[in-house]
Amino acid sequence: MTFTTRFAPSPTGPLHLGHAYSALLAQSLAARAGGQFLLRIEDIDQSRARPEWEAQIYEDLAWLGLSWPTPVMRQSDRLSRYRSALAQLTEMGLTYPCRCNRADIEAAAGAPQEGVPQFGPDGRIYPGTCRGRKGEEPGANDVIRLNLEKALTQVGKVNFTEEGEGLAGRYEISAEQLLTEVGDIILVRRNMGSSYHLSVVVDDADQGITHVTRGADLFEATQVHVLLQKLLALPTPVYHHHPLIRDEAGKRLAKRDDARAIAKFRDDGASPKDIREMVGLT
Ligand code: GLU
Repeated sequence: MTFTTRFAPSPTGPLHLGHAYSALLAQSLAARAGGQFLLRIEDIDQSRARPEWEAQIYEDLAWLGLSWPTPVMRQSDRLSRYRSALAQLTEMGLTYPCRCNRADIEAAAGAPQEGVPQFGPDGRIYPGTCRGRKGEEPGANDVIRLNLEKALTQVGKVNFTEEGEGLAGRYEISAEQLLTEVGDIILVRRNMGSSYHLSVVVDDADQGITHVTRGADLFEATQVHVLLQKLLALPTPVYHHHPLIRDEAGKRLAKRDDARAIAKFRDDGASPKDIREMVGLT
């Protein structure tokens, strides 16, 4: 299978040095393997995505010297695909609608217990309040969750290969670990038609991604992605989570760090080569 990797930014702000690193690394891994580099626009959260940020993404990446096949996959065009993946899980009896808001979840979670994690890759671990609503038609304000315990009777443990610096190895996560550390993740968010986890899994499979290149902040979410791949009978790619680019104070960069936006460096006279040097890729 041809080595295929991708850069999957969300158009919710300017790309910064961390994004430049991620995209350039993905492209160089593809080049080294004689494979291909794809772009995907992750605009599933339409309340935050903006066309001007999407335009800026294309401009910044082209300026950095990257190229990619078109048309570019865009999540907002793929709601029916996410709906059919969800229907697959629902037919397997693995989903339920949930009406809990943050305060309900906090209240039901109770006092923290020593050694029991409260947060997982999907935020606060859901206490299961709405699990009994399986089969109910979701209300307009409901989210849809995965019944993890039931899902694990079909999948058991999950495993994947990681190639990222400092993380490389073969990972195996047991059903018990998933139950205590992940919980019933959200498959469809309110007013979104999908969730990051469901979309990314379906998109990576549909784009034929063999190697996922992304920041180490998403390493913890990978177990969720592999679980969904198994449930949906999709292939599991190899993962490459790279270290995050940090500012001088050691803080990781965020979209709001406009001072480190690629466009700002460019306006200040930096060249694409300067950016490569700044992120340690020469
Ligand atoms: N859209 C995500 C982001 O901008 C990246 C998701 C991924 O690479 O899996 O952080």
